Amino acid sequence: MWKIMFIVELLINACIAFTGFYIISKVIHSTRFSSYPAKSIIIGLLTGLLGVLLMFKGIQVNESLRMDLRHLPLVLLAFYGIRFPLIIATLIIASSRFLFGVTPQAFVAFVAILAISAGMIFIHRTFLNRPFRQNVALNVWALSMVTIAVLINLGLSDAALRLLLSTWTIGLAVGILSSLLTLDFQTLNRQVELYKKSAELDHLTGLYNRRVWDARTAVLEQEGRIYNVLALDIDHFKHVNDTYGHGNGDLVLQQFANILKQETRPHDITARIGGEEFMILVYDLSPQKVVKVANRIRERIATERFQLDGFPAIEITTSIGISHGKRIPIQRMNTLADDALYTAKQQGRNRTILLNQQDEQHIAATQSATETIRS
Ligand code: GH3
Ligand code: MG
Ligand code: MG
Repeated sequence: MWKIMFIVELLINACIAFTGFYIISKVIHSTRFSSYPAKSIIIGLLTGLLGVLLMFKGIQVNESLRMDLRHLPLVLLAFYGIRFPLIIATLIIASSRFLFGVTPQAFVAFVAILAISAGMIFIHRTFLNRPFRQNVALNVWALSMVTIAVLINLGLSDAALRLLLSTWTIGLAVGILSSLLTLDFQTLNRQVELYKKSAELDHLTGLYNRRVWDARTAVLEQEGRIYNVLALDIDHFKHVNDTYGHGNGDLVLQQFANILKQETRPHDITARIGGEEFMILVYDLSPQKVVKVANRIRERIATERFQLDGFPAIEITTSIGISHGKRIPIQRMNTLADDALYTAKQQGRNRTILLNQQDEQHIAATQSATETIRS
């Protein structure tokens, strides 16, 4: 009968630990929190709560002895190396032992929990690049501190040894299993991040790809904000490929993209739409201001020395078409920017043309002058 009760309690405790680990890991990997301290406090409180729950649930080893897995949630936080939540959880778990009575035994257990967390910070740093070994070391350290606490409280007795045997076997089994769970969770999250990035970013330039451009611009019409679409196309890029090779063409594209990254603001959306065609979404700027921005980019491109492999550096130019408007569907804005770009190419390249849909004006801005044409 004891054996069945023991196994049932063990399973219940393992279930509580695994579920808690899952929830806490989810919060740790969540990107929804805007404030770091708030996230840390929530993780600390959740972990503390899980430890207290595991302590109250406990596992009856025999008629008089109970063990529990309250140290396991602390192992989780130590593994992630998040100290502030670890401190919060440690204080909650350590002090809630006094709920069972303010006794010398409770004080020993309190100190043991503090020692577990302090040592784990050191172990985390020592085994930083060996996650599995780190997890085993964290569990062994925690169980060693529990052992010392049990020996102080019960002395070297038969009961103490029996309790320690259960604590070590169950502690190690559940501890290692939950470590594997944590490691899997971490690997999975890293892979998802990596795949998300590679699905969103153009692999050659690191700019957003067309998919992200389409997704991010799809709702612009409803936003009701003034926005500008810049379409850029490198002039005579085929000549670069034909003369210096495709590899050097790629190098030029990368340097071109880096200039776009430097010359745009973080909330602008800069994407590589096709081979040597790029789009930039710029919010709120007036036609005059956006032409200024475009000309700054265009002039920077024209004066830059593009480094090649096996050839001296070269100079290139780019043409830019801009559409400006509000509540205009993005497809229409893209077409207008493309039309403006086509006009810029036709007028001799290395120039900026803006089509203002709002007041039906065409503004042609060349390097030396800004010209307004009524359509
Ligand atoms: P224009 O001034 O009219 O834009 O002339 P262009 O030569 O730049 O125009 P075109 O569109 O004819 O040529 C674009 C070239 O870009 C053709 C293609 O080989 C090249 N290209 C497209 N994608 C890549 C790429 O990923 N890497 C390299 N190196 N070249 C690319
Ligand atoms: Mg081109
Ligand atoms: Mg082209």
